[in-house]
Amino acid sequence: MFLTNLTWPAVASLNRDIPVVFPVAALEQHGRHMPVFTDSLLTDELIRRVESRVGDRVLFAPLTWLGNSHHHMDFPGTLSAEPRVYIDLLNGLLENFIAHGFKRLVIINGHGGNDVPGRQSVFETRQKHRDRKDLLLLFATYWNLGAEPWKRDPTIQQRVMGHACEWETSMVLRIRPELVGDLTKTVDVPFGNAFDPAVRGWTMPDRSEPGHVGDPRGATAEKGEVLFSCFADEVVKLLARVGAWDGKSWEG
Ligand SMILES: [Zn+2]
Repeated sequence: MFLTNLTWPAVASLNRDIPVVFPVAALEQHGRHMPVFTDSLLTDELIRRVESRVGDRVLFAPLTWLGNSHHHMDFPGTLSAEPRVYIDLLNGLLENFIAHGFKRLVIINGHGGNDVPGRQSVFETRQKHRDRKDLLLLFATYWNLGAEPWKRDPTIQQRVMGHACEWETSMVLRIRPELVGDLTKTVDVPFGNAFDPAVRGWTMPDRSEPGHVGDPRGATAEKGEVLFSCFADEVVKLLARVGAWDGKSWEG
């Protein structure tokens, strides 16, 4: 169920063990062929599909579209919160619902740059409520939940998420094809290994002139449907685990 459709008495009457989802995404450049609102469009669609399957068992807050996208700031149009501001924004959302008495709070993320501050947010908020044993604070990026879409469609080439890549371009083609530019004009931008196993601080111009990473030329709406379906399955599974948690153990 969507929080935006409820009255406050309806929220007040909810079981406080219901999982509450905060979807988060971004508004940032997505190459020359895709709109800046790509991550938010895709995350909204994913959440819409998940909500239609879990119904009243999960409460969904509206999408927070402002993300941490400073590594894209060289490209006009990008709107980004400073990392510290973004962590505090997420902490604030969690604190609001802790104040309302809810205990199982899940941030579902659809933008790579939110990953580090998102993890930091659930960590910080947990430390602030360290005497509570009944809090479950989770951060999850939807494409990192174990989906293997290439097993359902062997024509899918990529194995991990890129940026405005085969995967994201396919998903936008599935829901908003009129927003996708001429893919024959795009090029393959290799992922590279970024000094693995070290973690490199980077900006997008370090990696890509057009702004995308990956090869969008193989994108199709059919692949997009498979990707949405696989990612929704994993989010539904995660939320079922959250709902089934016994309220105190480390792993439920
Ligand atoms: Zn994206």
